[in-house]
Amino acid sequence: MTIPELPTDTQVAIVGAGPTGLALAVTLASAGVDFVILDRLAEGMNTSRAAVVHARTLEVLNELGAAEALIARGTPITRFAVNDGPRRLLTIPFDRLPTSYPYTLMVPQSDTEAVLLGRLRELGHEVHRPHEVASVVHDVEGVTVKTTSGQALRAAYAVGADGMRSIVRESSDIGFSGNAYEESFVLADVTMDWAPGREEVSLTFGSTGLTVIAPLPGDDHYGILATVHDAPEHPDLAFVQRLLDERAPGRAAVGGLGWSSRFRVHHRVADRFRDGRLFLAGDAAHVHSPAGGQGMNTGIQDGYALGRAFATQQLDGYEPQRRPVALRVVAFADRLTRIATTHSSVLRGARNMMLPLLGRIPAFRTKLATELAELNYR
Ligand SMILES: Cc1cc2nc3c(=O)[nH]c(=O)nc-3n(C[C@H](O)[C@H](O)[C@H](O)COP(=O)(O)OP(=O)(O)OC[C@H]3O[C@@H](n4cnc5c(N)ncnc54)[C@H](O)[C@@H]3O)c2cc1C
Repeated sequence: MTIPELPTDTQVAIVGAGPTGLALAVTLASAGVDFVILDRLAEGMNTSRAAVVHARTLEVLNELGAAEALIARGTPITRFAVNDGPRRLLTIPFDRLPTSYPYTLMVPQSDTEAVLLGRLRELGHEVHRPHEVASVVHDVEGVTVKTTSGQALRAAYAVGADGMRSIVRESSDIGFSGNAYEESFVLADVTMDWAPGREEVSLTFGSTGLTVIAPLPGDDHYGILATVHDAPEHPDLAFVQRLLDERAPGRAAVGGLGWSSRFRVHHRVADRFRDGRLFLAGDAAHVHSPAGGQGMNTGIQDGYALGRAFATQQLDGYEPQRRPVALRVVAFADRLTRIATTHSSVLRGARNMMLPLLGRIPAFRTKLATELAELNYR
């Protein structure tokens, strides 16, 4: 394959064109800051992965001129339902949140990336592909980014928006503290008859694991996320049906399986988000359980915040603004995952008694919805 030529100089080199890198690129393009964005993949991935876009992210996308196009592709959902088996423990409502987007938008990650890419093109820019970064070296005057094809890009700053195994982070002095969860996570895109219907995202706790079922755009189309002890690398339709028979007996009849994956989840936050001329954003800076659907959302908001920091020349403000958010989101997702997957019958009993009581308090429900929607991080 012929590798196209990269520009040789820029102000900001963005490594990675996932949702974080694209949000940063659109922010810089809107502000007229010079940048180059590159990615090792020949084209963006076409899988659903993170399928929840929360209210704060829609507010940010609105600033970037991308909210309307995304909303047109998605399905708005106004509540999360928390269950233990068939029993409702709690409902988390989004429809009274103080925002122009009082819902969560269900839309495949590939659509979110496509909309951001479309906006970037409208602003006259393109992602440089396929360029895999092999090394990132920074000195007092700038950063040299070298690719596996031997090309070099000199920049004043480089941003690692290159995901969990970030080469930018690994080229810096920044540690990535945390751990991995014992269980695997299974993700599947299915068509099915789902008795509870398409009005809510359902989080079902159970002694064998957490199961999240979320309506996606399209008839009978759902995303399933479940913690599982032993899952095959590519779960098939029979596996998914067995899982649902065990965790939601009699409620799901899976008709088709579009895409599936098993992955290990870590909860880690980078010790710093900046090392001299290198910055980290998105999964390169923080990873956590997808239980609340906040990973991609936090990454898009990082990209926007860092873009504004470049535009206003307030780079020192980025880490103090975004690292506390990452720590809080990671801790919240961790608590949610541990509460959902506890093996202790005593803790399960206490959880199942407390949540319905707390759920009767409107302020508690609003606090949970605000935390998930990330509206407290404006
Ligand atoms: C299988 C799977 C399922 C997931 N499911 C969920 C979910 O259900 N809910 C949820 O909230 N989150 C989920 N996530 C996480 C979510 O996808 C991420 O939080 C989100 O993609 C983070 O965006 P990002 O742009 O920071 O990183 P990424 O999306 O990882 O993008 C990084 C980009 O950098 C590029 N790159 C990496 N290294 C290099 C290099 N050396 N040179 C050039 N380019 C490079 C990659 O090609 C990629 O395009 C899932 C992730 C996976 C992998």
